[in-house]
Formats: sequence, structure tokens, C-alpha cells
Amino acid sequence: MAILSDDEDLRGTKKDSFQKKNPIVKPENIEYDKTFENSIRPKDFDSYIGQGALKETLKITLEAAKLREKPLDHLLFYGPPGLGKTTIAGVIAAQMGVDIRITSAPALERPRDIIGILMSLKGGEILFIDEIHRLNKVAEEILYPAMEDFTLDMTTGKSQTAKTLRVPLPKFTLIGATTKAGELSGPLRDRFGMVYRLEFYTIEELTEVIKRTAKILDIKITEDGAKAIARRSRGTPRIANRLVKRVSDFALVKYDGIIDENVANDSLDTLKIDEFGLDHTDRALLNLIIEKYDGGPVGIETIAAALSEDVRTIEDVCEPYLLQAGLLQRTPRGRKVSPEGYRHLGIKTPSEQTRLF
Ligand code: ADP
Repeated sequence: MAILSDDEDLRGTKKDSFQKKNPIVKPENIEYDKTFENSIRPKDFDSYIGQGALKETLKITLEAAKLREKPLDHLLFYGPPGLGKTTIAGVIAAQMGVDIRITSAPALERPRDIIGILMSLKGGEILFIDEIHRLNKVAEEILYPAMEDFTLDMTTGKSQTAKTLRVPLPKFTLIGATTKAGELSGPLRDRFGMVYRLEFYTIEELTEVIKRTAKILDIKITEDGAKAIARRSRGTPRIANRLVKRVSDFALVKYDGIIDENVANDSLDTLKIDEFGLDHTDRALLNLIIEKYDGGPVGIETIAAALSEDVRTIEDVCEPYLLQAGLLQRTPRGRKVSPEGYRHLGIKTPSEQTRLF
């Protein structure tokens, strides 16, 4: 069995800083990673757990598009990584009975990248662009008429002899995904017919995700074992799936192969994932703000530099959950550790400390 590299974040995110320092990633890991994620990715609404409100709205929208025999409106999904944006795009495609092309903004650097992909689309197909907030201006401008009128405006020739050519495109649906809706330009955001935010999952929902994954991977797990892993999965299915696999290795080697509450808790303690699901980086971040900056506020760049982390990793991966869990606060002057954050680390808040004297 292939094992995930230790350099891989347990949240399933290759750290940007790690990649910068180690540009060569073992290809077998990448392959393995993709195969693993795809093998457990839900393919229909029934196996897509949680996000109830979103699913209900989508079902109606899809049904209406089918009845009208028109392609679906362009959709934008936003929320932290691992919450199921790519997965829901795949479910939509399956439900509509159309193909889906998956790409991401950094792969569309040159105009010909986006033109090529648009021209190769067939009627009704879905184009999924991940990290869409990272599209460059030129690519965005090519997308505007494509999204609005299903045309490509191309310029041929130079200066005085230049001509603009309107090339018709088949009617397609663009599904954009982003961790940062705020960074999308206004004109691009306005061209999406629907914008949805994906929510963190409840413990009960993650327990279902874990039981489903365990069944597919033939891992034996009890209800309490699944719940124990769910509690430490930061509200995120991708993390839940990673953890269940990691814990199953422990169960196999150290125990009798079955994941119960005790096995789950013991394994996660060994992996240094605490009861809130925080890992080493999260705790280092909170500790840094408390110890070096009196609990904050402190700017994100300063935090990233002190932790030798990439600002994007901190903003996209660490912060959303720390904010949602109420351990960290965002203020106009920077990030602050909340009283709950102090409590979680077992450190007294400054006011509790002064009360002692
Ligand atoms: P994102 O695109 O938001 O980063 P993905 O769609 O790639 O996240 O989901 C990450 C993993 O989590 C997938 O492999 C999938 O198996 C699992 N997953 C995501 N959402 C759900 C869900 N609602 N139910 C079950 N599994 C899910």
C-alpha cells in the first residue's frame, strides 16, 4: 500500500512553502493522491453528504434547466479547500448527463490556453475552473463574451489592419470555484447566475462521510470510532478522509484492525491532531501570536514570515477554521487570538494574568 508522504499536510494540502523548497514531488504520490480522492468522490446527490440547502436549490435549478432544454446558468462555489466544490461540480455534470472539463486558473496563463479550452467544448458541457480568483486580466476578458453571449472575440492582424472576429461557441456552463470570493473581480462575479458558499460540515455529517469512505476502502470502523475522527476533522470532508486512512494504518499495525473510539483517539493523539482538529501549524500560529505579539493584533504577512509559511496557505488553509471555531479573530489591524484560543492552548489571557497580581 502506498503511504502519503510525511511532508504532506494531513489536511491533504501540499504546502506552498514546501513546494517552493522541494519542487520535485514524487510522481507516485501525486498519482496515488488523485486515485484515492477520485475513488471516494461522491458521484450523485444522495452520496454527497450535507450542504442540504445547496443541494435542494441545485436540484430545482437543474430540473428547470432540463425542462427548458437549456444549459445551466454559470455557477460559482466558494469556501475553504476540501469542502466539496469540485465534487459538487462533478455531481451536477452527472445529473445533467454532460461531460465536465476540469482545469484551474494557474493553468490558463496564456490567452491560447483559455481560447483552446473554450473552442474544444461541446454543447451543454461544463467547464470547471478551480481557483478562479487567480485568473489573469486577459483570460478574464476572453471569458466575459464567452460567458455572456457564447462568443469569442478574437483580433487578427496588427494595428491598422487589425480585425475583430466574433467566433460562436457552443452553449456551455462555467462552474468556478474559489477559496476567496472577495478576490474575484466585480465584472467576473456578476457574470455568474448563481453564487453559493459551501459551509463547514457538522460532526454528524462528517461521521457519515467517514463511514461511507471506510465502506468503500473496506476499513472496519465503529460508529464511535467514526465520530471520534469526525470531531477532529475541522469540519472538512477531505481532512476526514485523510484521517480515516491514517488511523486505519494504525488500527492495522498496532491494534486488531478495527477502528473504535479508543483506536481513533490514540492514533490521532500520536499524529498530534488535537480535540479541535488543530495540527502543529495551527497551534504554532496561535502560540506565535500569544507569545511574540501579546495575543495580537498582528498582520498576516508578519505571521507567515515568522512561521516560514506562505501567506496563501495561512489564509486559505489555517485561518478559515480557526476563525469559524472562534479561536482567532480578524480585526482591521490584524489577527488576534480570542479568549477561547488561549483556553484551548491552556494559556491564561492577559487579563486573567493581571488579575493574579
Ligand atoms: P474542494 O474542491 O472544495 O477543495 P473536493 O470537492 O475536492 O473539495 O472534495 C475533497 C474530498 O472530500 C473529495 O475527495 C470527496 O471525496 C470528499 N467530499 C467532499 N464533499 C463531500 C460530501 N459532501 N460528501 C462526501 N464526501 C465529500
